Amino acid sequence: MSSFAVGMHPRPGDGASLVRWECGCRQPPVLLGTYGANGLIHIKARDRYWHVRGSVQTVCPRCGGEHQLDLGQGSSTPAKQ
Ligand SMILES: [Zn+2]
Repeated sequence: MSSFAVGMHPRPGDGASLVRWECGCRQPPVLLGTYGANGLIHIKARDRYWHVRGSVQTVCPRCGGEHQLDLGQGSSTPAKQ
């Protein structure tokens, strides 16, 4: 009697759950990348996986719209010189 929650295991590795960064120009939305609570953006491009910290810009492969994702966590305080 333990047939519940099968396949509901969170993916190990990144730890925190990932949020989908997508363009809503169509259904289902076009996935541009994912990002986690740790402020790291994950972008899959062909055979490579990019991990970006900070902000990143990309173009939707479907509608050509430009998207910017800015995860400027920790930089809310202006840099003092
Ligand atoms: Zn689009």
